[in-house]
Amino acid sequence: MTKRTPFIAGNWKMNLDHLQAIALIQKLSWTLSDADHDFSKVEVCVFPPFTDLRSAQTLIEAEKFELKLGAQDLSKHDSGAFTGEVSGAFLSKLGVGYVLIGHSERRQYHAETDEVVRDKVAAAWRHNLVPVICVGETLEELETEGQSAVPVRQTLAALAGHETLGEFVIAYEPVWAIGTGKVATPAEAEAVTKAIRASLKESFGDEVAQSRILYGGSVKANNVAGFLASGEVDGVLVGGASLDAEEFAGIARLQKHIVL
Ligand code: PEP
Repeated sequence: MTKRTPFIAGNWKMNLDHLQAIALIQKLSWTLSDADHDFSKVEVCVFPPFTDLRSAQTLIEAEKFELKLGAQDLSKHDSGAFTGEVSGAFLSKLGVGYVLIGHSERRQYHAETDEVVRDKVAAAWRHNLVPVICVGETLEELETEGQSAVPVRQTLAALAGHETLGEFVIAYEPVWAIGTGKVATPAEAEAVTKAIRASLKESFGDEVAQSRILYGGSVKANNVAGFLASGEVDGVLVGGASLDAEEFAGIARLQKHIVL
């Protein structure tokens, strides 16, 4: 069985222009290297706005930082008359390795359905990007369907109908925990992760079930340890706290104290 490398992802959302991005990436990388962070043991990836990506790429390459670069979305199309859309082909050229797909803010404010998410996953694979597929239940769905049903359904919908599956990461993010300060308990995150993994195993077999599954929703340096302690959850997707270099580095460095 392959070991799943923990993945710490920072979703900046619509924050920080390209100059601020340069400052944050520098501070984050220096903080982590001062702490002898081993990027081969714990992968760290930032997801800045599109307009920051070129500056981030140039900096990361020039300074040989080991930080990975991700994008927050991509078009399901490759090119053409789709004003305002960004192709996965362009992201690949910018050194982007990962792309968030189906974040709850996109499902909620941009009417992204499971079908759109599925098409975007296919687009990511066409351009050698690893999709970080975000799934999670709203408060209403939690009350009516329990915690695992929606994340499992959204996971399987995103992966359905592809001829072959490429690499992917699942980010379980209860919608009621995003940016609210409300956090799922480690036991809840573990239970949903296990349910998602079991559904992957049932539908796609053992190897696919070894894909990484993250927790996201109001994660901070002082609560991350609980989520990773059991070894079920393979990392975290962090929003607000990823805008602060010390705090985000603290989240990544905390892995050092956990026997994985
Ligand atoms: C997110 O945006 O994916 C997220 C988890 O946000 P926050 O950490 O701020 O809750």
